[in-house]
Amino acid sequence: MTTVALKDVTKVFRDGTVAVDSINLDVNDGEFLVLLGPSGCGKSTVLRMVAGLEDPTSGAVMLNGEIANDLSPRDRKIAMVFQDFALYPHMSVGDNIAFPLKLAGIEPTPREERVTDVASALGIGDVLPRRPAQLSGGQRQRVAMGRAIVRRPGLFLMDEPLSNLDSGLRAELRAEISGLTRELGVTTMYVTHDQAEALTMADRVAIMRKGVLQDVGTPTQVYNRP
Ligand code: ADP
Ligand code: ADP
Repeated sequence: MTTVALKDVTKVFRDGTVAVDSINLDVNDGEFLVLLGPSGCGKSTVLRMVAGLEDPTSGAVMLNGEIANDLSPRDRKIAMVFQDFALYPHMSVGDNIAFPLKLAGIEPTPREERVTDVASALGIGDVLPRRPAQLSGGQRQRVAMGRAIVRRPGLFLMDEPLSNLDSGLRAELRAEISGLTRELGVTTMYVTHDQAEALTMADRVAIMRKGVLQDVGTPTQVYNRP
């Protein structure tokens, strides 16, 4: 189970930029929450603070009801996918996905079973022996997701994971990502500037503008406000 709560979280960078300004936000267990807003409004900074890659200037990031400000990224049991995902080019697809399990000391047999399950759920079961360079962009993105979720994280963070793909593929992967995270029951925070993505993928949308949270609600609620 994973819940996230931001309590009055503010981030002021060294140069004085107020990237995030007193944000309060709850993400429920198993929920798919989309953080939506224009470029520069502070979405990535929020995600990076939840991940532990950036410290809040003030306020608390809570994970499962506990203050997580001092937890290292490693101890937060999160998985992350960014737009510029980096696969290991010299490893096969299967080895790429298996790598986090290998690091965790999982034995070869359960490792292979888990990799096979994840790969087939992502529709890349037939390309496991290939190298990343032999895949399409969409397949590479699926491998990056597979590698991120293979350890069954409690929390999945995605920052514009589809923005480098063409529109047909984006639509296809939207459905796949939201289907997969729901199937796994993993709590997800998904950053995008794309309204269509927010509308089709989110349980709830949190709309940000200039560091401030403007609105939070289901897609129907936020798009129908006067
Ligand atoms: P978004 O993800 O919505 O595009 P970001 O969270 O990346 O927004 O950035 C929010 C604001 O903070 C922007 O004005 C950005 O230029 C600024 N910013 C981000 N990282 C830093 C940093 N390390 N130092 C100074 N300013 C930063
Ligand atoms: P995004 O595309 O997610 O908005 P950016 O291109 O704004 O991200 O930022 C990319 C990287 O540069 C991030 O690590 C961010 O923290 C950093 N960064 C962004 N703006 C600034 C800034 N004004 N000063 C220093 N670092 C920045």
